[in-house]
Amino acid sequence: MIDTHCHLDFEAFDHDRTAVLDNCEKNGVHNIIVPAVTAQTFARTIAICENHAQLHLALGLHPIFIDQHQPQHLVQLDEQLSQHPVIAVGEIGLDYYRKQLDKDKQNAFFTKQLIIAKQHGLPVIIHNRKAHDECLALLAQIQPVGGIIHAFNGSIQQAEKYIELGFLLGFGGMLTFDRSAKLKTLAKKIPLSSIVLETDAPDMAPEQHRGERNSPEYLPFVQTALANIKGVDRDEVAQTTSGNAQRVFNLPLSTQH
Ligand SMILES: [Zn+2]
Repeated sequence: MIDTHCHLDFEAFDHDRTAVLDNCEKNGVHNIIVPAVTAQTFARTIAICENHAQLHLALGLHPIFIDQHQPQHLVQLDEQLSQHPVIAVGEIGLDYYRKQLDKDKQNAFFTKQLIIAKQHGLPVIIHNRKAHDECLALLAQIQPVGGIIHAFNGSIQQAEKYIELGFLLGFGGMLTFDRSAKLKTLAKKIPLSSIVLETDAPDMAPEQHRGERNSPEYLPFVQTALANIKGVDRDEVAQTTSGNAQRVFNLPLSTQH
């Protein structure tokens, strides 16, 4: 399986990253996509991904850290994309849920990163909260090569528009909670051919590890939850979602078992 969204570069994993990756292998999680979030941490994320065959690098400027982003970071991003084996531009996007974040600056950085991604022929990994219509309008205008809407929680109509634009929708640990009835209905309606699995670790732990650090080791809990929602077996979920991710990212898959 492929964890399509995991911040394994964060300090939360500094003391046991190799052990976590060994457990991932045992749990059938052989490939993990690690999106950087600020230019200040690009070098660190690049180094960590270079050290582990299971990790695949994405670089981007995350909207939550919009206060830290400077115009020269876009230049740096553009340069780094040519110098390293980057599989996507991300994590980028819009977050209108957190009111303190400057919307105009977010829009400017998101737009520029979509254009940079398109110029490099790379897919994008998008964070979106409370701004799906704005995001869809930008994607329709710029037409990047595709990508993932991570932790999707919009409407079925918005999901259909993303799919038309060549996007996949990411689902994670929230699917394991009884209280996530609306999200489960959404996951049931969206075809498996448009879904990818993710953990978003160290955040968003599944019900089985509620309150703990989340980990890519726990991706099978998301797999099982989705299999139950869709009434299909776990292998079908693993194979279809992994194939989806492999296609959108054009992944050179780690074959370690
Ligand atoms: Zn993230």
